[in-house]
Amino acid sequence: MPLWDANCEIFDVLKECLERLEREDPFKVLYIFLIKILTISGFEPEFGHCLRCHGNLAGRVYFSVSRGGLLCARCTPGIADAKLIRNDVFSSIRYVQESDIGGSLRLKTSGECERGVFYILREFIMYHLEVDINAAAAHLFEKGLS
Ligand SMILES: [Zn+2]
Repeated sequence: MPLWDANCEIFDVLKECLERLEREDPFKVLYIFLIKILTISGFEPEFGHCLRCHGNLAGRVYFSVSRGGLLCARCTPGIADAKLIRNDVFSSIRYVQESDIGGSLRLKTSGECERGVFYILREFIMYHLEVDINAAAAHLFEKGLS
């Protein structure tokens, strides 16, 4: 979004996440923040629907780094880097998108799932925004490195 463009929704997410950092797991706050910001910024369709056929994602869900988004099983032929993602990774991303920050923070996930969520977000942000969040996250969170 352009600098100086007021966006109350983004501001509220940023403010609440900064406040939550005082008492919650910072890694969890980071990925919830990223999912919320991406969703508000209009990247939601790539997370909610198959990139190719725009159908709802259910069952086996794949992530393509080269396409920068999620695919259903029917649409993976011909996409060499389509990688099956864990169901808990996909459902955690969807859960955070659909919940408020307090509800998202109550979501119980394994460390492996959290790293999977972070991997998807990192690749997605690198593809769409050409920014590597791992370098920044690595200074703060050991879990970001994998
Ligand atoms: Zn599809």
